[in-house]
Amino acid sequence: MEQRFKIASHVMKNVFSCGYTEPTAIQRVGVPILAEGRDIAAISPTGTGKTLAYLLPLFSRLESPAAKSKIPEQGARGLIIAPTRELAAQIYNETLKLAQGRKWRVVLFSKATASTLKDLAVQSKVDIIISTPLRLVASIQSGELVLNNVQFLVLDEADRLLDTEFVDQIEEIVGLCTNPQCQKAVFSATLPAKAEQTVLAMLKEPIRVVVGLKDTPLPNIAQSLVYVAQPESKLPTLIQYLTSPTGYTPPIIVFTSTQARATSLLSELLIAGVKNAEVLHAGMTRHERDQCVKRMLQGEVWVLITTDVLARGMDFGGVHGVINFDWPESVQSYVHRIGRTGRAGRQGTAITYFTDEDAPYLKSIANVLLQSGQTVPEWMIKLQKPSRLKRKQMGKAQHQDTTVGHKGENVGRALAIKKKCVTSFRLWSR
Ligand code: AMP
Repeated sequence: MEQRFKIASHVMKNVFSCGYTEPTAIQRVGVPILAEGRDIAAISPTGTGKTLAYLLPLFSRLESPAAKSKIPEQGARGLIIAPTRELAAQIYNETLKLAQGRKWRVVLFSKATASTLKDLAVQSKVDIIISTPLRLVASIQSGELVLNNVQFLVLDEADRLLDTEFVDQIEEIVGLCTNPQCQKAVFSATLPAKAEQTVLAMLKEPIRVVVGLKDTPLPNIAQSLVYVAQPESKLPTLIQYLTSPTGYTPPIIVFTSTQARATSLLSELLIAGVKNAEVLHAGMTRHERDQCVKRMLQGEVWVLITTDVLARGMDFGGVHGVINFDWPESVQSYVHRIGRTGRAGRQGTAITYFTDEDAPYLKSIANVLLQSGQTVPEWMIKLQKPSRLKRKQMGKAQHQDTTVGHKGENVGRALAIKKKCVTSFRLWSR
């Protein structure tokens, strides 16, 4: 990798030992901008190396571990915010890989680490904190954590961080990074216009970088939309896919709209004899979630059923396919969900089931397919544009159904296959 600015040699050595020889597009453009001290708003498709694009300049900016500094600091110098615990943990692991060889102090913020950092002397020896917004704000508000020494702030998955659930916390965090030299980097694969306005207002003379087309998946993900008529038909369709003699290539990730539906789907798949299926959602304990991620990374999980909690940023490496069992809530959700496959230049497949209820929203996703270079039947593009109200309701229809089977009963395999007589056919695929 070409090195035109100062990144510590041990960090570069660690980059090479990860097997990276050439920077990706976002790294080629983003690293020099950040290394020159500019704020950035960067949009680049899923799986294109955004993490390294901000970690390299972050290490460059901090120069050397705080523990070595003779000048006493007041708080941590680097701060990375991500929307979910799983993503924060993944970024933490990537940061540790680059930090090897020197005494960098990197902290994944949690209840336990927060209590250690109450001591300002300890906190001031920390180089980089990685956290979700809620956990961090709780410590700030109780006066245990100071942010006025932060020199490099990253908002990863920025548009999600600006959702109503997080926006107040993010504004508070950004507002408390009062160091006039604080450089800000905002990254995402999607950034709707309104979120982009908010982001740009938070930054100082930012440079906006867009790799590829905004809100568009990479062409190496083969996307298909599968018509299943009724919600009840999704289960037999999925069971048939997972148990067909031709088989499927694991691992795959299956997205449902709610925790309850994810749990219900797992029971159904286990009854149907699907092997190595597991569920992960935000209603599980931290330990359960961590263990599931670990098993997924070790290749022990073949079918991971989850909700949008895993839709963003998670890099399970060789995920072969994504199935949207339930229609996504937005175009952004669709782009992030299917972005769990086809990462780092690999091939992937993404299948999305749609019912008659989902039909009004079909055009939005069909346009995404078209933009990413896939063929779409003309009638889908000719569909009427959904009203703003309809767009807001996108993907919400199945929220009331807590089970995925027929009228709330458990549908075993035999029954499920019998019920396959309900229309279920692949309408088109690439
Ligand atoms: P990210 O978008 O940061 O989650 O990265 C997606 C995937 O690309 C991860 O598996 C990274 O390990 C990989 N990756 C990041 N940078 C490079 C690079 N320069 N060359 C090859 N693979 C990379």
